Amino acid sequence: MSNPWKRTKLKLKIAANKIPLDSFSESKILNPDRIIEVSIPIKLDNGKVKVFKGYRVQHDNTKGPYKGGLRYHQHVDMTEVKALATLMTIKNAVVDIPFGGAKGGICVDPKKLSVTELEELTREFTRKLAPIIGPKLDVPAPDVNTNPNIMRWIVEEYSKVVGKKELAVVTGKPIDFGGSEGRTEATGLGGYYVLQEIVKKLYKKPENLTVAIQGFGNVGLYLAVFLVKAGYKVVAISEEHGGIYIPEGIKDIDDLFKCKEKNGKLKGCIEGAKNIGPAEVLELPVDIIVPAALGNAITTENVNKIKAKIVLEMANGPTTSKADEILTKKEVLVIPDILANAGGVAVSYFEWYQNVHKEKMTKKEVFKKLEVKMKSAVDAVYETADTYDVDLRQASYVLALKRLTEKA
Ligand code: NAD
Repeated sequence: MSNPWKRTKLKLKIAANKIPLDSFSESKILNPDRIIEVSIPIKLDNGKVKVFKGYRVQHDNTKGPYKGGLRYHQHVDMTEVKALATLMTIKNAVVDIPFGGAKGGICVDPKKLSVTELEELTREFTRKLAPIIGPKLDVPAPDVNTNPNIMRWIVEEYSKVVGKKELAVVTGKPIDFGGSEGRTEATGLGGYYVLQEIVKKLYKKPENLTVAIQGFGNVGLYLAVFLVKAGYKVVAISEEHGGIYIPEGIKDIDDLFKCKEKNGKLKGCIEGAKNIGPAEVLELPVDIIVPAALGNAITTENVNKIKAKIVLEMANGPTTSKADEILTKKEVLVIPDILANAGGVAVSYFEWYQNVHKEKMTKKEVFKKLEVKMKSAVDAVYETADTYDVDLRQASYVLALKRLTEKA
C-alpha cells in the first residue's frame, strides 16, 4: 500500500479492534483535528514572485500541545503530512510525553533557494501559521531539510507577531538560543536504551551480538557510538554511496566518521574492510540490523535475504507492510520506529519544558531522564504485547490508543 495515510489508518483500525475502541474514540483518532493549507508568496532574488504551498496538520491534542516537525521537500503533500501527524500522536503516547501530534511542511526543494529566499519563505510561513502555533498550542520542530537555524527564524518571526520573545514555540533550536543539551545525540541514544532493555529481556549479552547499520547521519552515527561503547560488535555501516563490512567489528566510530567526512565516503576508511553496497548492509549475517536512513528500506524485494533475528527501526517507516508480515512469519523481532526512534521527541519535550520553566539541564541530566523514559516505554510495550498477544508494533499502537482514550 503506497498511500501513507491509508496505511496508517489501517494500522490504527487493527489496533482499535484489539482494545476494542468505541466508535466515537475510533472516529476521533482516524480524523485529524485540523488541516491547514497556506499560500506562501515570496519575492525571489531575481525579482520574480513565486507562491509555495505550506501545510500543517494538527492530529490530536488530548495529551498536550500538538507537536511535530516541519519538512521542506518537493514531495511534501497532504496525505503524507496527515500520516506523519498521526504517527506523532502515537509516538508521543508510546513514550508518554504530554504532547499531541502534528506535522507540517512546505512543498519546495530548498536546495534550489538562496539563503535569503529560504529565510523569507520560513518567515512568511511562520506569519501564516502564527494564529495556530504557540508554546501551549502547537510546537513545531526540525524534520527533513529543516534545522536549528530555521527554528531560530521561526522563533524570531513568531515573537514579532505576538510581541514577546517565545523560545518555547519550537524545539530543536541552537543550544545558544534556547536549545537543549543532548538533543543531537537523543535519537541514537534513545534507540540504544531501547535495544539495551530488550537485549536484557532476551537474556543476551551485547558482546555476543553483531550489528549492521544502514545510515551514518545523525541517528546512525550516535547509535553506533553508544553501541560500541556498550560492547556490541558493530561490523558494518553504510551510507548512500556504499558501506564497509569488517567481521571483527569497528573499534572507533569517531575516527570512522572523521574519515568519512574528510573523504566523502566510507570506502577506504578501515584497512581490510570489505566494500559493500548501501542496501547490502541489511542482508549481512549479523544478529541485529538497523535501518537508520530512509523509509521503505525493507521491502518484498529484500526481506527474504535478511538473516538477522532483530530489526531496530531507527528510520521512520523503514519496513513496508508486506515485508513486515514476512518478518513476523520468519519470527524476526521488529522493534518498531514509533518506539525505537522516539528519543528525539522525548528530548524535544525536555527542551520545551526547560524553556517554559526557564531552566537549564546538563547533558547528564538529559541523558538520565531519557533513559528512564525509553526504558519505561519498552516495559509498557512488552506488557501490552503480552496482554493482547501481539507483536511489538501492534502493541505500541494498542498502548498509545489506550493512553489516548483513557479517562483522566
Ligand atoms: P541524516 O540526513 O543525518 O542521515 C541520513 C543517512 O542516511 C546519511 O548517512 C545518508 O548517507 C544515508 N543514506 C541515504 N540514503 C541511503 C541509502 N539509500 N542507503 C544507505 N544509506 C543512505 O538523517 P538522520 O537525522 O540520521 O535520520 C535518519 C532517519 O531517522 C530518517 O528516516 C529520519 O526520518 C529518522 N529519524 C530521525 C530523527 C532525528 O532526530 N534526526 C528522529 C526520528 C526519526
